Amino acid sequence: MDNERFYKICRDFDLSIHTDADELTHRFTDDVQARAFLEALVWPDQPFCPHCGSVRVYRFRPVKTTRGGEARAPRVGLFECGDCAAQFSATTHTPLHGTKLPLLKWIKALFYLLSSSKGVSSVVLARHLGVTQPTAWKMAHAIRELLDHRHEAEPVLDGEVEIDTKRIGGEPRKDAYTKYVWNPRGKGSDKSIVLVMADRDGRVRTSVVSGESAAELAPAIKAVVKPEAHLMTDGDKALAVVGQDFEGHSSVNHGAEEYARVERKDGKPPRRRRRNGKLRDDERNVHVNHAEGFSALLERSRFGVYHRFSRVHMSRYLDEAAWLWSAASSGTLTTAEGHSQGEVQAEPFVLQLMTLMPRAFGRQVRWSAKGGLFWPPPLRAEDPPAPSRALMLARAKEKNGAGHDLPRKDRPAGISSRGSRPLPAPVRLRATSPPFRPLPPGRPPPDFTDEEIDGLF
Ligand SMILES: [Zn+2]
Repeated sequence: MDNERFYKICRDFDLSIHTDADELTHRFTDDVQARAFLEALVWPDQPFCPHCGSVRVYRFRPVKTTRGGEARAPRVGLFECGDCAAQFSATTHTPLHGTKLPLLKWIKALFYLLSSSKGVSSVVLARHLGVTQPTAWKMAHAIRELLDHRHEAEPVLDGEVEIDTKRIGGEPRKDAYTKYVWNPRGKGSDKSIVLVMADRDGRVRTSVVSGESAAELAPAIKAVVKPEAHLMTDGDKALAVVGQDFEGHSSVNHGAEEYARVERKDGKPPRRRRRNGKLRDDERNVHVNHAEGFSALLERSRFGVYHRFSRVHMSRYLDEAAWLWSAASSGTLTTAEGHSQGEVQAEPFVLQLMTLMPRAFGRQVRWSAKGGLFWPPPLRAEDPPAPSRALMLARAKEKNGAGHDLPRKDRPAGISSRGSRPLPAPVRLRATSPPFRPLPPGRPPPDFTDEEIDGLF
């Protein structure tokens, strides 16, 4: 991570490294400061136009101009593109698009969610922020949109990667009123199946899968795990089949109460353990405890915070849990008695924002007409810039008459100079530049049609 930039942002906005909610409240009460903070995070290098990708952009001067006797100041944070003439701000086409809330509330919502251990429910978030529950719900989903890993085109999990499947759904129920309702545990239930993939560096990726056969699991695993990784699984036979396509595969047999063992990398029988129990260079620990630890966190989050993950939004809650898991780095704490004990500490808030906010552009969450949420399709490089240059020219021509787009000396008399600036061709960003990297579509689960999803809201 870019430490120098991290310290600079902390210095510029007078924030401590492990900032807290009080500090954020004091620093960003003024929307101008809050917006400057977001701009520094969303545009780490320089501002760019979210409509055409040009970096020839201009900030409106914060002076009042008088038009028709009425003083008008430009909106704080408003920019105009020098190429396509569209106006924008740091929140345009991000999950914060068109927000009417003070930005401080967004910064605090980010803080509460990212510094939680298992997420924050919309009811509690609403109390913290002083907004209604539906607003808090939308804000939390907008933040989850940032946590989605779908920008990763290449597999990221490397080294020893633990793979486990987990069923997520309600508790088994059988009582006088629901005598015939039986949600069995684990396999055989119709609960959602979640594939958990965790490497030993603290990274976790998840995927909702339609079944537990090798053919159904393999694509999801190969999308995020590098082929040179060594897979660790429990005794699942389908996972063993998938493991053949990777560099190596080891499993622990939970059925025989084996939860962890040491094996030698060259396949020889394990040697007698040394007394201090340290692992040698040619040995590896076989277990899926990281993946199961993550599954436990997920279960605590469902049981204690959200109570229920709807199938439609399941992948978003998984993204959130995976982010919180990865952002919690382990450290060692020495107690007063001199014992060392493990401590889990979340990555500093600003550092987390430095990773999340530059990917905000192109990810959007809006209210749907029915009061639910709507995820606009991702922006693509080949989409025409909105408002297109041709449309602007046509409008200007209609308003000002023919000839307005000619250079001033060739222009017929009486043509207004407003809108007469010949517009240069829009500059497209290079295909490799991050803001316009095409994102795969958002993640409504594949087994729902659009109508079914609409019906749920
Ligand atoms: Zn533009």
